[in-house]
Amino acid sequence: MDLLEYQGKQLFARHGLKVSSGEAVGSVADAVRAANAIGYPVVVKAQVLIGGRGKAGGVKIARDESEVAEHAERILGMDIRGHTVRTLWIEHASDIASEYYAAVLLDRSAKRPLVIFSVEGGVEIEEVAEHSPDKLVRRHVDPLGALTRAEALDIAAAAGADEDLREGVADALVALYEVWSEEDATLAEINPLIVTPQREVRALDAKVSLDGNALYRHPENQGLSDRENQDEIERRAAEEGVQYVKLDGDIGVLGNGAGLVMSTLDVVARAGGSPANFLDAGGGSDAQKIRQAVELILANDAVKAVLFNIFGGITRCDEVARGLIAAFAEISPQVPFVVRLDGTNDREGRRLLEEAALPNVHTAKTMNEAAEMVVALAADKGVGAAA
Ligand code: GDP
Ligand code: MN
Repeated sequence: MDLLEYQGKQLFARHGLKVSSGEAVGSVADAVRAANAIGYPVVVKAQVLIGGRGKAGGVKIARDESEVAEHAERILGMDIRGHTVRTLWIEHASDIASEYYAAVLLDRSAKRPLVIFSVEGGVEIEEVAEHSPDKLVRRHVDPLGALTRAEALDIAAAAGADEDLREGVADALVALYEVWSEEDATLAEINPLIVTPQREVRALDAKVSLDGNALYRHPENQGLSDRENQDEIERRAAEEGVQYVKLDGDIGVLGNGAGLVMSTLDVVARAGGSPANFLDAGGGSDAQKIRQAVELILANDAVKAVLFNIFGGITRCDEVARGLIAAFAEISPQVPFVVRLDGTNDREGRRLLEEAALPNVHTAKTMNEAAEMVVALAADKGVGAAA
């Protein structure tokens, strides 16, 4: 679960990381009111779940009330690479002497947390990473311990931070590591971590992703998801407890088990198709659950055909077939379905489906065959070519 900048900064502040205080607002009038209370100059910042806001014109400094109104007016509603700005963060503008970079993330291949730090942060960090990777200091941390102060000081020195700043950098790194570990984050990044002319080290931006599976341990973080900007179908699915992720294509996909669904996405792509979603039906097979899943898949207007990929284990294929038949009786979908049933009672499942003769439902025995059929159907070519 990705957090907006200001939500990330609230987490930072809870762990003692220095940030500027400010206010999140949703209208020009509130932006002006907040700026007047905070004191000028202020910075008006688009709150969207995508980086590069500065370059896109979504971060502006305002010296007085009329400039705040002007920037707020222009940034609210702005589209930043597919993300509509609905919230602004207004904070007192900082004077910047240097821009550093700091991040903590999980290095899966090393099975350890990784701290990355550079004294060359700012909006060109990708350039730095690509052309002078030696400017990024990378240190793994013992996952059973924490980032120690000595390690943090060592990182600051290795990166070439000025001597008088190393204590401040170490404070920031230790606090950032604490955010990452105690909040169950998968990423905690600050770019830029600024040095002010008064030689203070402070987080000017925040990019935090929390592990959704650990949210139950953090009831105080549960309200942080960007609900306003969340996809409507994903929001509904989350409310219904269904694992659904919207994708860009036109082939609806349902499978039982996350791994099977992932490989189904791959097989559809290899057959030349483009999946419209990820949906893991888990062990559910009753008509109610299947109907719910079908409704979610079809709520996406882009869907031209649907692939059900069921591997029967504990969930038997005949149960799934019955669930599907009951669901079809209630919703009679207008797009073609391909159902691949394999595993426990697969023959019985396919027989039930064939007997029910549901309009527009095709059965397949293998995953590849099913993928080819559904891709042909989505392209409106019929199943003749593949079947
Ligand atoms: P991003 O572009 O989405 O990463 O947004 P940032 O919050 O990192 O802001 C982009 C850039 O705007 C920063 O790297 C700074 O150079 C600049 N900026 C942001 N806030 C301030 C501020 O308070 N004062 C000044 N002088 N520049 C700022
Ligand atoms: Mn940034």
